[in-house]
Amino acid sequence: MITVMKFGGTSVGSAEAMKRSANIIVSGSGKKAVVVSAMSGITNFLVSALDDKTLKDEDIFCKFKERHMTVAKELFEGKRLEEFTEEFEKRFDEFKKLYSDKDGWNSPYFKDNISSQGERFSSLMLSHLIMEMGYKSVALTSEDAGIYAVGAPLSGECDLERTASSMGINVKPLIDDGTIPIITGFYGISESGEPLTFGRGGSDYAAAAIGNALDADTIEIWTDVNGFMSADPRVVEDAVTIKEMNFNEAAELAYFGAKVLHPRTIEPARMKHISVKIKNSYQPEHPGTLIYNLRKKSKSLLKAVAMKSDLSIVTIRAGELAYRPKLIATIIDRIGDLDIPLYAVSTSLSTIAFLFHNNDTARILGEIRGMHSEEIEGIEIKNDVALICAVGDDLLDKNGFSGDIFGAVKEAEANVEMISEGASDVSLNFVVPTESALDVVRILHKKFISSVKK
Ligand code: ADP
Ligand code: ASP
Ligand code: MG
Repeated sequence: MITVMKFGGTSVGSAEAMKRSANIIVSGSGKKAVVVSAMSGITNFLVSALDDKTLKDEDIFCKFKERHMTVAKELFEGKRLEEFTEEFEKRFDEFKKLYSDKDGWNSPYFKDNISSQGERFSSLMLSHLIMEMGYKSVALTSEDAGIYAVGAPLSGECDLERTASSMGINVKPLIDDGTIPIITGFYGISESGEPLTFGRGGSDYAAAAIGNALDADTIEIWTDVNGFMSADPRVVEDAVTIKEMNFNEAAELAYFGAKVLHPRTIEPARMKHISVKIKNSYQPEHPGTLIYNLRKKSKSLLKAVAMKSDLSIVTIRAGELAYRPKLIATIIDRIGDLDIPLYAVSTSLSTIAFLFHNNDTARILGEIRGMHSEEIEGIEIKNDVALICAVGDDLLDKNGFSGDIFGAVKEAEANVEMISEGASDVSLNFVVPTESALDVVRILHKKFISSVKK
């Protein structure tokens, strides 16, 4: 039995957290591969260092080293500390060289390379800790393990086939031998051989890709809350743990804003029927959430509500567009060339509206304006809207469910700007102004989750 265990930033963010996670790792049975994020705050620190041109390189290096070495000194002493420091310095020199080479800043993957540095150090530290506890372990970078990625900078996709064949050679024999590899999450190697990150929060997805590659039995995502909850517990105080969910429900919620999982985590697991557990590293005895091919139905109308903000509606107007499928196809084709995530589409007789991230609207506009089509009469943009994703079992079969939900939205005095209903039988998605989004989430949770008797 193979278990892939992923530990997020807070689960490796301090000496205490590292020890807690190391104990969870060694007490699990069977063969294991571990995937780690950078220590909490490190990726944000690296990303902001890249954006803030006023910071001095030396200050960045100093802060980076201090954060890691302070924790290492709490964890290790004597020979272990010496060995760790030696390997740390090697990696740290590479990081400094990379950062100081200002020509390298022009590489399309430079941001990926810098922002993924934290994982190289957290994995090294956790691996030394496991060895110190008397177990065989090795720290592997994505390069060592053979995790491959394709796609645009900062939003890579794992090349699952290539990763499976290289991990079969580089990692499988180690696991079979009882060694616990601690692998960097967050990035793979691009076709040009440079680090390519999977987008923020990408270590969950890396863990799922590694689980897929190793034909794991279970993928465990160890985080700082008691599993997948009915809403973000930071937004809804009485959010509850969902004991079980199916792959579709989890995938919809993750894509539409439930930050507990990277949006693409579910697919590599679902493809190979690998169950995914979400667990709390601060409370390992809590059962957390099990995601698998669940077929059981729940009593309440809704299981969970998520929201995704910073989105924009782009509406394209053309007379009797509905009668001109070729024009619709051309518009979609042009947008498709940009290869950016789309959150909803909605049509009327003379308009087609798309929902994208705020950051992508300039590129969309450029592309549509570049069509030189006289048939397009206008383009409108509505910035800063949020998408609400309400997930439950067989929503389409439940009589009057959308009426109930929109009735509740009205109570929050929110204006519904766009609706996407019917495409999925587990979710109802709609768009509201960002300023109303939190109220809408809270009211839906209160009416359809908190107040339902279990
Ligand atoms: P990690 O560093 O372990 O990857 P993240 O911060 O990325 O952790 O994700 C965990 C956080 O996700 C939680 O602390 C919680 O605030 C947030 N979150 C958002 N939606 C949900 C949800 N539906 N269930 C659980 N946590 C959620
Ligand atoms: N360290 C990366 C981030 O903060 C990846 C992850 O934590 O999943 O985005
Ligand atoms: Mg995360």
